[in-house]
Amino acid sequence: MKILVAVKRVVDYNVKVRVKSDNSGVDIANVKMSMNPFDEIAVEEAVRLKEAGVATEIVVVSAGPTQCQETLRTALAIGADRAILVETESELQPLAVAKLLKALVDKEQAQMMILGKQAIDDDSNQTGQMLASLLDIPQGTFASKVVVADGKASVTREVDGGLETLALTLPAVITTDLRLNEPRYVTLPNIMKAKKKVIDIVKPEDLGVDISPRLKTIKVEEPPKRSAGVMVADVAALIEKLKNEAKVI
Ligand code: AMP
Repeated sequence: MKILVAVKRVVDYNVKVRVKSDNSGVDIANVKMSMNPFDEIAVEEAVRLKEAGVATEIVVVSAGPTQCQETLRTALAIGADRAILVETESELQPLAVAKLLKALVDKEQAQMMILGKQAIDDDSNQTGQMLASLLDIPQGTFASKVVVADGKASVTREVDGGLETLALTLPAVITTDLRLNEPRYVTLPNIMKAKKKVIDIVKPEDLGVDISPRLKTIKVEEPPKRSAGVMVADVAALIEKLKNEAKVI
């Protein structure tokens, strides 16, 4: 079984981003970039499936600028076999990424596609669902457990009030939730080995995909500053404020 994993290069989760002065977006100049955390979980899950003898090959894909090669190298160091960069300097929205991934899935004939449940920069939570829809195959989103047997994937997902388990026929799309696994640390020998693995570079045009944006960002603003709290003298004063000022009780 061939697994295709999508990995996005995003602003590192430790970075506190700032809004640009013209409110057109966030400033990512000279900011640390890393693999989207949910995608690290996706790569780890694919590697575990390969180690368990379920998967035979793991292909990682990233779409974006040349620097995405660093993200792909990290995925190769975790244990992916080869990588594809869909290189473009243009802005990519979830539908465009889903179309690019569909073209690659058709080409690679992968049986399982693993994506993060969301990218922590745009928080869209759309690409996996759109990919499953474009391919017209089953989807198991927000997976916290994946078991593959007899050509089926059993995906456990956390839903309001409990756990839901879906049986998906393959090929299928799975998106990862935080609890699925804890990605391994990348070791130096594996980083060295990853340098020898192949990264193929293609352009969106080579895949016949129109990536033009469908959505326009009108304005990006900082969230309102929280006002300072007040100390109350006793419980009675607190209750009085909750009742008459905040009006929550
Ligand atoms: P989103 O729908 O933007 O929240 O992204 C969900 C998931 O889609 C991410 O966790 C990635 O697995 C995948 N994805 C989104 N954008 C890209 C990209 N430019 N390159 C590779 N994978 C992506």
